Amino acid sequence: MGGRNPPSIIAVDGPAASGKSTLGRRLADALGYLFFDTGVMYRAVTWIALERETDLGDEPAITRLAQTAQIDIRPPSKNDGRACDVVIDGRDLTWEVRGRKVDANVSVVSAYAGVRKALSEQQRRIGLRGKVVMVGRDIGTIVLPEADLKIYLDAQAQERARRRYDEILARGGHADFDEILEKVNERDRIDSTRAVAPLRPAPDAIILDSDHMNAEQVFEHVMELCR
Ligand code: C5P
Repeated sequence: MGGRNPPSIIAVDGPAASGKSTLGRRLADALGYLFFDTGVMYRAVTWIALERETDLGDEPAITRLAQTAQIDIRPPSKNDGRACDVVIDGRDLTWEVRGRKVDANVSVVSAYAGVRKALSEQQRRIGLRGKVVMVGRDIGTIVLPEADLKIYLDAQAQERARRRYDEILARGGHADFDEILEKVNERDRIDSTRAVAPLRPAPDAIILDSDHMNAEQVFEHVMELCR
Protein backbone atom coordinates (compact mmCIF):
# COMPACT_ATOMS: atom_id res chain seq x y z
CA MET A 1 0.00 0.00 0.00
CA GLY A 2 3.05 2.31 -0.37
CA GLY A 3 2.05 5.96 -0.61
CA ARG A 4 -1.52 5.40 0.56
CA ASN A 5 -2.85 6.94 3.74
CA PRO A 6 -3.03 4.73 6.80
CA PRO A 7 -6.52 3.45 7.67
CA SER A 8 -8.54 6.18 9.36
CA ILE A 9 -10.82 4.05 11.52
CA ILE A 10 -9.05 1.19 13.28
CA ALA A 11 -11.05 -1.29 15.37
CA VAL A 12 -9.33 -3.53 17.91
CA ASP A 13 -11.44 -6.24 19.54
CA GLY A 14 -10.69 -9.32 21.59
CA PRO A 15 -11.13 -11.04 24.96
CA ALA A 16 -10.17 -9.65 28.36
CA ALA A 17 -6.51 -8.76 28.91
CA SER A 18 -5.42 -9.71 25.39
CA GLY A 19 -3.33 -6.54 25.08
CA LYS A 20 -5.89 -4.48 23.14
CA SER A 21 -5.31 -1.30 25.14
CA THR A 22 -1.53 -1.52 24.95
CA LEU A 23 -1.72 -2.04 21.21
CA GLY A 24 -4.41 0.59 20.70
CA ARG A 25 -2.57 3.19 22.67
CA ARG A 26 0.69 2.67 20.80
CA LEU A 27 -1.02 2.72 17.41
CA ALA A 28 -2.84 5.93 18.27
CA ASP A 29 0.42 7.55 19.44
CA ALA A 30 2.29 6.47 16.33
CA LEU A 31 -0.42 7.66 13.93
CA GLY A 32 -1.43 10.78 15.86
CA TYR A 33 -4.97 9.38 16.30
CA LEU A 34 -7.44 9.44 19.16
CA PHE A 35 -7.28 6.35 21.38
CA PHE A 36 -10.69 5.32 22.65
CA ASP A 37 -11.03 2.43 25.09
CA THR A 38 -14.76 1.64 25.09
CA GLY A 39 -14.49 -0.82 28.01
CA VAL A 40 -14.04 2.18 30.28
CA MET A 41 -17.62 3.27 29.60
CA TYR A 42 -19.10 -0.09 30.60
CA ARG A 43 -16.84 -0.04 33.65
CA ALA A 44 -18.00 3.46 34.58
CA VAL A 45 -21.69 2.52 34.44
CA THR A 46 -20.93 -0.54 36.58
CA TRP A 47 -19.00 1.54 39.10
CA ILE A 48 -21.88 4.04 39.43
CA ALA A 49 -24.41 1.23 39.88
CA LEU A 50 -22.29 -0.35 42.61
CA GLU A 51 -21.77 2.97 44.37
CA ARG A 52 -25.46 3.81 44.32
CA GLU A 53 -26.31 0.26 45.31
CA THR A 54 -28.57 -0.09 42.31
CA ASP A 55 -29.69 -3.71 41.93
CA LEU A 56 -27.52 -5.05 39.09
CA GLY A 57 -30.37 -7.35 38.09
CA ASP A 58 -32.69 -4.39 37.51
CA GLU A 59 -32.17 -3.91 33.78
CA PRO A 60 -34.41 -0.82 33.38
CA ALA A 61 -32.68 0.96 36.27
CA ILE A 62 -29.20 0.12 34.97
CA THR A 63 -30.22 1.22 31.48
CA ARG A 64 -31.45 4.58 32.81
CA LEU A 65 -28.10 4.96 34.54
CA ALA A 66 -26.25 4.36 31.26
CA GLN A 67 -28.47 6.91 29.52
CA THR A 68 -27.95 9.65 32.10
CA ALA A 69 -24.50 9.08 33.61
CA GLN A 70 -22.01 11.92 33.22
CA ILE A 71 -18.96 9.97 32.08
CA ASP A 72 -16.05 12.04 30.80
CA ILE A 73 -13.03 10.47 29.18
CA ARG A 74 -10.22 13.01 29.04
CA PRO A 75 -6.55 13.10 28.14
CA PRO A 76 -4.39 11.79 31.01
CA SER A 77 -3.75 14.38 33.74
CA LYS A 78 -1.23 12.19 35.55
CA ASN A 79 1.73 10.13 34.46
CA ASP A 80 0.85 7.00 36.45
CA GLY A 81 0.32 4.55 33.62
CA ARG A 82 -3.22 5.68 32.74
CA ALA A 83 -4.21 6.04 29.08
CA CYS A 84 -6.91 8.58 29.91
CA ASP A 85 -8.73 10.12 32.85
CA VAL A 86 -12.13 8.66 33.68
CA VAL A 87 -14.18 11.38 35.32
CA ILE A 88 -17.58 10.48 36.72
CA ASP A 89 -19.75 13.27 38.08
CA GLY A 90 -16.65 15.44 38.39
CA ARG A 91 -14.56 12.85 40.31
CA ASP A 92 -11.40 11.25 38.92
CA LEU A 93 -12.17 7.53 39.16
CA THR A 94 -9.65 6.26 36.63
CA TRP A 95 -8.28 3.45 38.82
CA GLU A 96 -11.51 2.76 40.70
CA VAL A 97 -13.21 1.59 37.48
CA ARG A 98 -10.41 -0.99 37.11
CA GLY A 99 -11.04 -2.44 40.57
CA ARG A 100 -11.99 -6.03 41.34
CA LYS A 101 -15.59 -5.30 42.13
CA VAL A 102 -16.11 -3.70 38.73
CA ASP A 103 -14.21 -6.55 37.03
CA ALA A 104 -16.54 -9.06 38.64
CA ASN A 105 -19.76 -7.27 37.64
CA VAL A 106 -19.13 -5.42 34.39
CA SER A 107 -20.11 -8.30 32.10
CA VAL A 108 -23.59 -8.49 33.60
CA VAL A 109 -24.12 -4.78 33.06
CA SER A 110 -22.70 -4.79 29.53
CA ALA A 111 -25.02 -7.61 28.45
CA TYR A 112 -28.08 -5.33 28.74
CA ALA A 113 -29.37 -4.20 25.34
CA GLY A 114 -30.33 -0.72 26.57
CA VAL A 115 -26.92 -0.14 28.12
CA ARG A 116 -25.23 -1.21 24.89
CA LYS A 117 -27.46 1.03 22.80
CA ALA A 118 -26.79 4.11 24.95
CA LEU A 119 -23.02 3.62 25.02
CA SER A 120 -22.42 2.35 21.51
CA GLU A 121 -24.29 5.29 19.98
CA GLN A 122 -21.84 7.65 21.70
CA GLN A 123 -18.92 5.49 20.60
CA ARG A 124 -20.09 5.42 17.00
CA ARG A 125 -20.48 9.19 16.88
CA ILE A 126 -16.89 9.65 18.06
CA GLY A 127 -15.53 6.89 15.83
CA LEU A 128 -17.09 8.25 12.64
CA ARG A 129 -14.98 11.41 12.96
CA GLY A 130 -12.05 9.20 11.91
CA LYS A 131 -8.39 9.17 12.89
CA VAL A 132 -9.31 6.92 15.73
CA VAL A 133 -8.23 3.64 17.26
CA MET A 134 -11.24 2.21 19.06
CA VAL A 135 -10.82 -0.75 21.37
CA GLY A 136 -13.52 -3.08 22.74
CA ARG A 137 -15.48 -6.26 22.05
CA ASP A 138 -17.92 -5.26 19.29
CA ILE A 139 -16.21 -2.38 17.50
CA GLY A 140 -15.60 -4.22 14.22
CA THR A 141 -18.94 -6.04 14.30
CA ILE A 142 -21.46 -3.48 15.61
CA VAL A 143 -20.09 -0.06 16.55
CA LEU A 144 -18.02 0.66 13.44
CA PRO A 145 -18.54 -2.10 10.87
CA GLU A 146 -17.13 0.28 8.24
CA ALA A 147 -13.75 0.43 10.01
CA ASP A 148 -10.85 0.46 7.54
CA LEU A 149 -8.77 -1.97 9.56
CA LYS A 150 -10.12 -4.53 12.03
CA ILE A 151 -7.84 -6.41 14.38
CA TYR A 152 -9.03 -9.24 16.61
CA LEU A 153 -6.35 -9.74 19.25
CA ASP A 154 -6.45 -13.13 20.91
CA ALA A 155 -4.30 -15.19 23.31
CA GLN A 156 -4.76 -18.21 25.60
CA ALA A 157 -6.54 -17.42 28.87
CA GLN A 158 -3.49 -18.52 30.91
CA GLU A 159 -1.28 -16.08 29.07
CA ARG A 160 -3.77 -13.24 29.37
CA ALA A 161 -4.22 -13.84 33.10
CA ARG A 162 -0.43 -13.88 33.56
CA ARG A 163 -0.13 -10.49 31.84
CA ARG A 164 -2.90 -9.01 33.96
CA TYR A 165 -1.23 -10.44 37.08
CA ASP A 166 2.16 -8.91 36.17
CA GLU A 167 0.47 -5.58 35.45
CA ILE A 168 -1.11 -5.43 38.91
CA LEU A 169 2.17 -6.32 40.62
CA ALA A 170 3.99 -3.70 38.55
CA ARG A 171 1.55 -1.09 39.87
CA GLY A 172 2.43 -2.19 43.40
CA GLY A 173 -0.85 -4.06 43.97
CA HIS A 174 -1.57 -7.52 45.33
CA ALA A 175 -3.04 -10.25 43.19
CA ASP A 176 -3.88 -13.93 43.18
CA PHE A 177 -3.14 -15.59 39.85
CA ASP A 178 -5.80 -18.31 40.07
CA GLU A 179 -8.45 -15.78 40.97
CA ILE A 180 -7.49 -13.60 38.01
CA LEU A 181 -7.60 -16.57 35.65
CA GLU A 182 -11.02 -17.57 36.91
CA LYS A 183 -12.36 -14.02 36.50
CA VAL A 184 -10.90 -13.66 33.01
CA ASN A 185 -12.55 -16.91 31.95
CA GLU A 186 -15.86 -15.94 33.50
CA ARG A 187 -15.87 -12.53 31.83
CA ASP A 188 -15.05 -14.07 28.43
CA ARG A 189 -17.80 -16.63 28.88
CA ILE A 190 -20.46 -13.99 29.55
CA ASP A 191 -19.11 -11.59 26.89
CA SER A 192 -19.10 -14.22 24.16
CA THR A 193 -22.45 -15.85 24.94
CA ARG A 194 -24.63 -12.75 25.46
CA ALA A 195 -27.53 -12.20 23.06
CA VAL A 196 -26.58 -8.65 22.05
CA ALA A 197 -23.23 -7.88 20.39
CA PRO A 198 -21.36 -10.96 21.63
CA LEU A 199 -17.60 -11.04 21.49
CA ARG A 200 -16.53 -12.53 18.16
CA PRO A 201 -14.27 -11.52 15.28
CA ALA A 202 -15.86 -9.61 12.40
CA PRO A 203 -15.78 -11.66 9.16
CA ASP A 204 -13.22 -9.22 7.74
CA ALA A 205 -11.08 -8.94 10.88
CA ILE A 206 -7.43 -9.92 10.91
CA ILE A 207 -7.01 -12.36 13.77
CA LEU A 208 -3.74 -12.04 15.67
CA ASP A 209 -2.77 -14.68 18.16
CA SER A 210 -0.36 -13.03 20.58
CA ASP A 211 0.60 -16.11 22.62
CA HIS A 212 4.08 -16.08 21.21
CA MET A 213 4.37 -12.38 20.47
CA ASN A 214 5.29 -9.61 22.85
CA ALA A 215 3.65 -6.18 22.79
CA GLU A 216 6.38 -4.78 20.55
CA GLN A 217 5.96 -7.52 17.96
CA VAL A 218 2.18 -7.14 17.91
CA PHE A 219 2.55 -3.39 17.45
CA GLU A 220 5.12 -3.74 14.65
CA HIS A 221 2.94 -6.28 12.87
CA VAL A 222 -0.12 -4.03 12.93
CA MET A 223 1.91 -0.98 11.88
CA GLU A 224 3.01 -3.05 8.89
CA LEU A 225 -0.67 -3.67 8.08
CA CYS A 226 -1.34 0.06 8.33
CA ARG A 227 1.38 0.75 5.76
O1 C5P B 1 -11.90 -3.99 27.84
P1 C5P B 1 -12.31 -4.10 29.28
O2 C5P B 1 -11.78 -5.34 29.93
O3 C5P B 1 -12.00 -2.88 30.08
O4 C5P B 1 -13.89 -4.22 29.22
C1 C5P B 1 -14.64 -4.44 30.38
C2 C5P B 1 -15.95 -5.12 30.02
O5 C5P B 1 -16.78 -4.21 29.30
C3 C5P B 1 -15.85 -6.35 29.15
O6 C5P B 1 -15.62 -7.53 29.89
C4 C5P B 1 -17.21 -6.38 28.47
O7 C5P B 1 -18.18 -6.98 29.30
C5 C5P B 1 -17.55 -4.90 28.34
N1 C5P B 1 -17.31 -4.35 27.01
C6 C5P B 1 -18.24 -4.59 26.03
N2 C5P B 1 -18.12 -4.01 24.81
C7 C5P B 1 -17.07 -3.22 24.53
C8 C5P B 1 -16.06 -2.99 25.51
C9 C5P B 1 -16.21 -3.59 26.74
O8 C5P B 1 -19.20 -5.32 26.27
N3 C5P B 1 -16.97 -2.63 23.33
